[in-house]
Amino acid sequence: MAAERRVAALSRHLTSSSDVSLSAKVDLRDFAAEDVYLFLTRDNVELRAKMLDFLKDPMYRPNYYLSLMEFRDLTLRRLQKFVDQKFFSTFDYLNDPLRFMAGLETLASVDYSLCIKAGVHFTLCGGTIAKLGTEKHHKTFLPRLDTLELPGCFGMTELGHGSNVMGIETQATYDEETGEFVINTPTDTASKFWIGGAAQHGKVCTVFAQLTVRGKWEGPHVFVVRLRDDSGQPMPGVRIQDNGPKAGLNGVDNGQLWFYNVRVPRDALLDRYSSVAPDGTYSSPIPSVAQRFGTMVGGLTTGRMLIAQGAIDASKIGVAIALRYACARPQFNGKCIMEYLTHQRRLLPALATTYAMQLQSLRLKDLYMAKRPEDAKTIHVVSSGLKAGATWHRVEILQACRECCGGQGFLAANKIGPMKNDMDVDVTFEGDNTVMMQQVAKALLDTAAKKPPRPQMPSMEGASVTDLTLLAALLRFREDSLTAEVAAAIGRAAKVAAPGGKKAAVAAAADAYEDNLDTVLQLGWAHVDRITFEGFVEEVNTRAPREARPVLSLLATLYGLTRVERALAFYLASGAASGAAAAAVRAGVNGACAALSADGGWAALRLAEGFGIPDHCLEAPIAFDWRQIGSTVTM
Ligand SMILES: Cc1cc2nc3c(=O)[nH]c(=O)nc-3n(C[C@H](O)[C@H](O)[C@H](O)COP(=O)(O)OP(=O)(O)OC[C@H]3O[C@@H](n4cnc5c(N)ncnc54)[C@H](O)[C@@H]3O)c2cc1C
Repeated sequence: MAAERRVAALSRHLTSSSDVSLSAKVDLRDFAAEDVYLFLTRDNVELRAKMLDFLKDPMYRPNYYLSLMEFRDLTLRRLQKFVDQKFFSTFDYLNDPLRFMAGLETLASVDYSLCIKAGVHFTLCGGTIAKLGTEKHHKTFLPRLDTLELPGCFGMTELGHGSNVMGIETQATYDEETGEFVINTPTDTASKFWIGGAAQHGKVCTVFAQLTVRGKWEGPHVFVVRLRDDSGQPMPGVRIQDNGPKAGLNGVDNGQLWFYNVRVPRDALLDRYSSVAPDGTYSSPIPSVAQRFGTMVGGLTTGRMLIAQGAIDASKIGVAIALRYACARPQFNGKCIMEYLTHQRRLLPALATTYAMQLQSLRLKDLYMAKRPEDAKTIHVVSSGLKAGATWHRVEILQACRECCGGQGFLAANKIGPMKNDMDVDVTFEGDNTVMMQQVAKALLDTAAKKPPRPQMPSMEGASVTDLTLLAALLRFREDSLTAEVAAAIGRAAKVAAPGGKKAAVAAAADAYEDNLDTVLQLGWAHVDRITFEGFVEEVNTRAPREARPVLSLLATLYGLTRVERALAFYLASGAASGAAAAAVRAGVNGACAALSADGGWAALRLAEGFGIPDHCLEAPIAFDWRQIGSTVTM
């Protein structure tokens, strides 16, 4: 009743005109959670169900009492048992990418360490061999990766070079006399650092190193190098050190590697895009070092998509647990905590954002699967933006869910806390988020340099802020304005420096870009906000189950309003929003929250059910009957 009262009151403030678009009684038709699940999960539905069923095995139940070494050991055994089921193969990386991704995505719902251990092995190591290697590499390594006979690592990061991969120091020098490459770590800063699986279990590693042939530097290339022999002993010349305990994700054994003039055969070079003949003749169809480097790291896209999906799936679990608890937990006078506006404000935008990210992930997969060469740049931009957006949203969402569950959110058995710790690193690995958002912004600025955008300020005067077209126009306006602002600053700096020559102009432009990095980051966000909102609306209009369209439309509205509300300072400063319009945005968010949580929050609960998380993956006692927690938590 309180929610309905608030919808009625707030709807009067949504607009300065008489057009009240969020009616007092929002008519949300009944809809089936199963239909929503199929709207959100479009590939390998049966396989996913089969894998989730397999993961009911008690071995995959959380155990928060393990030591570091026990947890690592369990993670390896869990992976081995999963691999033995042959749900997917490393060959699927090329032949059936959706099946490959579905396999790895499913693991995230039971344990993130297991998911990352598998991800490093299959995606980063196996995927790199599949993508950059040729048939001889596929035949030699992929079947042995498929059985986990050769646990795989990915050696890109060095102590001295993380985000700046181009600057790595590890050397690979071709020896024409013996027909071998010599892999060497010249300094401690060149040691490979953070290498997943290296500390204990890894036997083979895809190593990034600067290639020199006949004294000529050819840029970073990738080599398959054995770290340990079949019995698990380090190979001659390979030094391995354990990174030790981490803030989370302790089921993965990360380590540091040094190579002391390790000799590997000529075939160790993954040679799809460049090769070295026995006599030391280097050849590549890709002419420049920079372009070749782009191809070498291009394989990271699948990994980024998986990290984004892992963050989205964790958000689903967190939101589902917190919503179920909120709708069942009374506090003060028998009132359920979900009835408090503060609770709705924390959980319902989180629900809407999770839907937005999930739909964007599906759209990215569609683009990826279309395999059109002309989409390569868009895929890079969208995957970078989604990786950063989804993981940063996850940080906020899981924190909000944790707090919304009060003390219970802090109990490990209730899952949200441990997930938060284990996943904290997803904003850093597979491309640090700040760097990823710059990839997005740079692409927009490149386009703007050729064709500057002309920002169109939408009129909010007299308009309803819940109008989806207005919300889209507002998000577009912000993106175009920020693009124009940074592009103009760069253009001005280059023009001033131009009399000093082209080099001076380029340097001045680079300085101007760095001077505006704060706005550049906002620009990355503005792009992610716009495309995710537009995608959400389009998916609802074209592919959503009919009965669920009203509620999904409301959810999309809430998402759009939340993104506009976050950027209200921009809209007020730019003159797009007046004080009254800002108040209408606030009222719009509160109204949508009230509508979604009315009548015991059935709509919000049903939308969370649409995530399709089986009970054994929700796991948390507070998601079921919180009063029974004393009898369900085991010691
Ligand atoms: C648990 C874990 C597992 C990992 N597993 C692997 C693995 O298996 N294999 C592997 O190769 N690597 C792995 N990594 C490494 C990971 O990919 C790197 O940590 C990541 O690329 C960031 O590099 P860095 O840690 O050196 O940070 P840095 O690049 O030094 O960044 C530090 C800070 O500086 C900022 N910064 C850097 N450059 C810029 C810029 N141009 N503009 C603005 N800000 C900037 C970043 O935003 C960040 O906040 C792992 C890391 C962790 C923590």
